[in-house]
Amino acid sequence: MDRNEAMLRELNLYPQWVRRNAPAPVAAEQPVPVTTVFEAIGPAEIDVSTSLSPSPSPANGGGGLSWPELKQQVGDCSACKLRAGCTQTVFGVGDENAEWLFVGEGPGADEDAQGEPFVGQAGKLLDNMLLAIKLKRGENVYIANIVKCRPPGNRTPEAGEIATCLPYLQRQIELIKPKLIIALGKTAATALLGRDATLGSLRGTLHDYRGIPLLVTYHPAYLLRSPMEKAKAWQDLCLAVNQMGSQGYNPG
Ligand code: URA
Repeated sequence: MDRNEAMLRELNLYPQWVRRNAPAPVAAEQPVPVTTVFEAIGPAEIDVSTSLSPSPSPANGGGGLSWPELKQQVGDCSACKLRAGCTQTVFGVGDENAEWLFVGEGPGADEDAQGEPFVGQAGKLLDNMLLAIKLKRGENVYIANIVKCRPPGNRTPEAGEIATCLPYLQRQIELIKPKLIIALGKTAATALLGRDATLGSLRGTLHDYRGIPLLVTYHPAYLLRSPMEKAKAWQDLCLAVNQMGSQGYNPG
């Protein structure tokens, strides 16, 4: 099984369906250009919603800091009760000048142990999702979380914990200046957009985070539990590449 087939199997997209009268299939070693896949999806319904993102708090660790200062502050942070229950803070990983930013909820057990976001089973799926759109962890991609400390028992972070931690992510976003943010799951989406809504209602629409386009898709951990939803996640990824294409991005 080649790498492309393995990735498509992972996303429940194998075997590939071929449209009748479609052009002859491309050889297996030559992945189908992503742009041809996106054309089938059609343009995004553009509804650039008003950003209601919370402002950095006066006590925030994020405002105006450089990368080393920010990393130091996050490492030293004990502003909420999560820090006492976790092994270490999980800052984020990847290309600090990335055009793509993926944001999850918070570290789980594996991330807490290793100090890096998305390194467990959900992380493996995220890596395959990245591969599906010709991206690779660390190369033009940054991965971060809404909260930097593992919530006990992997519970959803509380509103107060999110509000305390969010300025760190806000500063990371200011420093990275991504062209597109992908919110993975409802917690990331609602925290960044500053309003409550269902994940289903947030998918498929282009949102705005402080002038940066933001799209919402399922959290990889949810996809592991509900593999049939991977097809919808694939649609979301296609929309993301379509959006980036409209901003001049050219997948390699
Ligand atoms: N889930 C998340 O939201 N983030 C991680 O880093 C790992 C699992």
